[in-house]
Amino acid sequence: MTARLLLLACIAAIWSLAHEPAAACHPEEPDSPEAGHHGCGAPKEEPPPGPGEGASTRTDTALERAGLRRIRALAPSVHLDIRYATRRNFTGRPLDGYCRPPYAYLLRPAARSLAAVQRDLRKRGLGLKVFDAYRPARASRDMVRWARRTGNEHLLNGYIAARSRHNEGRAVDLTLVRLASGREVNMGTAYDTFSPRASTENAHGSVLHNRRLLVRSMAARGFENYPREWWHYEHGRPARRLDVPLGC
Ligand SMILES: [Zn+2]
Repeated sequence: MTARLLLLACIAAIWSLAHEPAAACHPEEPDSPEAGHHGCGAPKEEPPPGPGEGASTRTDTALERAGLRRIRALAPSVHLDIRYATRRNFTGRPLDGYCRPPYAYLLRPAARSLAAVQRDLRKRGLGLKVFDAYRPARASRDMVRWARRTGNEHLLNGYIAARSRHNEGRAVDLTLVRLASGREVNMGTAYDTFSPRASTENAHGSVLHNRRLLVRSMAARGFENYPREWWHYEHGRPARRLDVPLGC
């Protein structure tokens, strides 16, 4: 091979590496129990708490004034995987109002109760991983727009709501993890699987055991499960809906 041919071959090899097609990403169809672990290539969890996490933005101050508390301020060992701040959610992109992934807020009584659940679970070698907590009202509107635009209006019947208890800071989406490894326990479906398979009691064996363990652990501290979604829990009385963005 002449030097010129060799040079052309090198250029072709470098070009093909640079243009490797990205792995297919179907965030609308997180079907298998493992789907949540192999999303769309974005970092899976929040980065470790850094110097920035403790710093308050203007909107963090507004949330605290409205009576919300950062979950990790009360329970630092709770894992966060705030999907709506990333593209690893059913819309395939970050939602309006989510600016910084590591942020999760709840009304103070709910945040305190969640910290108590985390303490209770420690005895079993388990902990919590939060997928979503307080959700700005604009993010809920964004979900509804997505459903209409993509022909998924049927999800507006029970799965996607224009007004959500998440907007009040008293609903939380979460799962159980092994405390030592941070690995999620098997709940049978990925988070935000909008199908009857996600109904809490629609399972058997170890999956049903795990879902019920989460229900009991949360109920012991005043959280009530939404029967159509094993991950969704609500706490306390109705409160004001908020539209303060998260970490912006
Ligand atoms: Zn929820």
